[in-house]
Amino acid sequence: MSSNDDREQRHNQRMARKKEVVDAAIAAATDKRGVLVVNTGNGKGKSSAAFGMVARALGHGQRVAVVQFIKGRSDTGEEAFFQQYALQQPERLVWQVCGEGFTWETQDLARDQATAAAAWQVALRYLSDPAYDLVVLDELTYLFKYRWLDLDAAIASLQARPPLQHVAITGRAAPEALIAAADTVSEINVVKHAFKAGIAAQPGVDY
Ligand code: ATP
Ligand code: MG
Repeated sequence: MSSNDDREQRHNQRMARKKEVVDAAIAAATDKRGVLVVNTGNGKGKSSAAFGMVARALGHGQRVAVVQFIKGRSDTGEEAFFQQYALQQPERLVWQVCGEGFTWETQDLARDQATAAAAWQVALRYLSDPAYDLVVLDELTYLFKYRWLDLDAAIASLQARPPLQHVAITGRAAPEALIAAADTVSEINVVKHAFKAGIAAQPGVDY
């Protein structure tokens, strides 16, 4: 047998073993229920991954609600794209921006808390409606960081949501208790970011 045949045989055996392991894992994963996904960390890709899930869910004919808790800028491509979709198919997608009242500069705590509470009420509407298959809570973690929203109460509401409803939460520094309550958690770390090299935020990449 040539060394190439030998390599091929070993490769095929490895792949067969791998397939057995993967097939067994797939067969064992029989639970079907809504999952709580958290995308956190300082690297780029938290919100865009959640919006990828929105596209995925809509592609499957699911009903989706997006609540944005902090409005960074008003000209994002994702908002333009999905608002257009929401306009055409309002029964399939709602996209609600709630963070416009936050005041980083004035640090008016009472006002910020009131804005956060109102935004959370918007989220609760979707989190209590089983008609929504996916609820995205974009940049929610900042409300915990600044203590504008009670963490335990928020987690209790997340856990009381309809059993088949998926939720995706994004934002840096997700609190431990939220990570513990979630089913799927990704921490996206920075290896490099173009902004640090002086490259301005690019449409289609950064917003
Ligand atoms: P994206 O919306 O691209 O998925 P994100 O949600 O992970 O990013 P945010 O912290 O919400 O990140 O910041 C949003 C904006 O800041 C985006 O324009 C993103 O490219 C940029 N950004 C994200 N991470 C970094 C970083 N480490 N340094 C500089 N800019 C960043
Ligand atoms: Mg984000």
